[in-house]
Amino acid sequence: MHLLQQDIGPEYFCLERDEILERIAARREELAGQLLILCHHYQQQDLFQFADLTGDSLKLAKEAAAISDREFLIFCGVHFMAESADILAASHQKVLLPHLQAGCPMADMASVAAVSHAYDELLRVGIAADRHDILPVTYVNSSAAIKAFVGGLGGSVCTSSNGEQVLQWAIDNGEKVFFFPDEHLGRNSAAALGVPDNEVLLWRRGEPLGGNSVAALQQARVLLWDGYCEVHMRFLPDHVRRWRLRDPDIKIIAHPECSRDVVSIADIYGSTETIIAAVKESAPGSKWAIATEENLVQRLQRDYPDKDIHLLAPTSCQCTTMDCNQPVNLLWLLDTLAAGEIKNQISVDSATAELAARSLEQMLAIC
Ligand code: SF4
Repeated sequence: MHLLQQDIGPEYFCLERDEILERIAARREELAGQLLILCHHYQQQDLFQFADLTGDSLKLAKEAAAISDREFLIFCGVHFMAESADILAASHQKVLLPHLQAGCPMADMASVAAVSHAYDELLRVGIAADRHDILPVTYVNSSAAIKAFVGGLGGSVCTSSNGEQVLQWAIDNGEKVFFFPDEHLGRNSAAALGVPDNEVLLWRRGEPLGGNSVAALQQARVLLWDGYCEVHMRFLPDHVRRWRLRDPDIKIIAHPECSRDVVSIADIYGSTETIIAAVKESAPGSKWAIATEENLVQRLQRDYPDKDIHLLAPTSCQCTTMDCNQPVNLLWLLDTLAAGEIKNQISVDSATAELAARSLEQMLAIC
């Protein structure tokens, strides 16, 4: 991974919101034909309105790569998403991130050094004879380096839409499965597949053998890295109960990054695309309490005024790192491009990209 430095000038922070938005619109028109602006569902509306493509991270990366006549892909999302876009993009396409601090804390919870050390420990106590006996699966919300580690061991990426399918494949093909970095997507997927609780074990970072006994590790079929999304952790079972008491007709829909305690009592659970489709296809007057990032919930409220839509939690649930990307950062990036400079490029080195692509291709083969 190679990061070029971000050097946005102080004059940008004197601009009023309306001026920033007008200047973005003008630059976007001026540079049309050279660039695509990609926006994840969790971005604020002031950025989202300028998107050429919207969606979840993998959908955006795949669709952008298919439009190969655009040289610059500005990814309004977080770091791992820009890396995935770079891996899938044609060699002449450059992926740019409006703000270099826009990362994903959950993705950062699994480093290759820590994951590799966990494998070494498992081999040391005889849980497996070879690393390849423990098939790794990584959620797409992970670094390119982790995807490469997984690809190197014949494992697969998964998304929040296909976690169950990929986990079933891994269970069928490995003696054990190690799932990174999101404990909750792994646990929810294992539960949906009917894997008994005593065969699903949490690996706690920083503890010898992940805080487990050798006997428990021998019995386990699925090991879960203890990463989590702090945004989705804010939704609690008590929120579900309160909404049901307030309105027995309300439907609860939760993202699988929420805890098992929330997902198991929700009416529906699924990816951002599943949530959007469920609301879109529901009858006028439908009532929803949604457990996912707040910007997406606010957009659904705006897009479907004939439906009664709420955030499940009473407090704010915004992804603050995603929110590092502000309109002023997008304007600055467009201005630099118009001046012939390339800033904030996210590029994955070819060796890492090749192995990471294997784990993505494995997912496509499974699904
Ligand atoms: S919402 Fe959670 S998983 Fe998504 S980018 Fe933010 S911290 Fe990461």
